[in-house]
Amino acid sequence: MKSPDQSQRFLFDKHPIRGQYVSLDASWARIVEQSGLEGRALLLLGEALAAMVLLVDTLKIKGSAILQVRGSGPLGLLVVEASSENQIRGVARQTSEITDEMDLAEIFGSSYFVITIKTEGAEPHQGIAPLRGANFAEALEHYFATSDQLTTRFWLACDQETTSGMLLQKLPGKSADEDAWDRLCMLADTLSPQELKLAELESLLFRLFHQEEIRLFESSPIEFFCSCSRERTGAMLLTLGKPEVLDVLEKEGDVSVTCEFCNQHYHFDSIDVEQVFLSADGIKPSTVAH
Ligand SMILES: [Zn+2]
Repeated sequence: MKSPDQSQRFLFDKHPIRGQYVSLDASWARIVEQSGLEGRALLLLGEALAAMVLLVDTLKIKGSAILQVRGSGPLGLLVVEASSENQIRGVARQTSEITDEMDLAEIFGSSYFVITIKTEGAEPHQGIAPLRGANFAEALEHYFATSDQLTTRFWLACDQETTSGMLLQKLPGKSADEDAWDRLCMLADTLSPQELKLAELESLLFRLFHQEEIRLFESSPIEFFCSCSRERTGAMLLTLGKPEVLDVLEKEGDVSVTCEFCNQHYHFDSIDVEQVFLSADGIKPSTVAH
């Protein structure tokens, strides 16, 4: 039996190649329910999510990896985040029909996606990558191949119940066996989406790479978690500006904000709003950039 909601690292003992596997179930179900999506939109959300878990685990940072697309297509917004604390969240918004013939650029109505790496105590790093191909595995592989990063391949599979992925990454250093990378990738290409989603990792690795010596590391449990808070929502109101917020307050009676990742509601009445802007006034001099 496959263990649910986990990420696991593995290493080929004889080649400078590492791997990472992820399978998300209950954590994914929570996001599926929240999203209300189905079909290809849901698939893309799941693929992006699995890919970011794989990515954040290979980076070995304390922080998070975020994939974001905004455009004018049927799926005009997609944001997923995976943290080194093994927490995930994601959201996508679909406004019109996606047909089978559409490629990524048409689905999103954009020619690029953004990957942000947030590391604790450092400025976030953003990479902009073209939305090439029909799925995120292709788009990400292109990004890795053209952005001065380690050669990396992704295998991603997703449905309503599970989203899974596997990554192979070529590490720096010479291999005594020059064909190893191509051979291992070719073997991984024989993976069916069904296997990727349902098989237990050890048997999956045995099926693919039984001629190799593989070191399997301990798995980490992954859970759904949203980092939104009342404080952060208040900070967002600040960026809107006081006149705009007061305008909403006057029309609606209170300011209500719903988090798109977790559906949490935050209400601010007139006193709350005053407090938000008052506390901001107090700290302004030190936060103004010169
Ligand atoms: Zn939230």
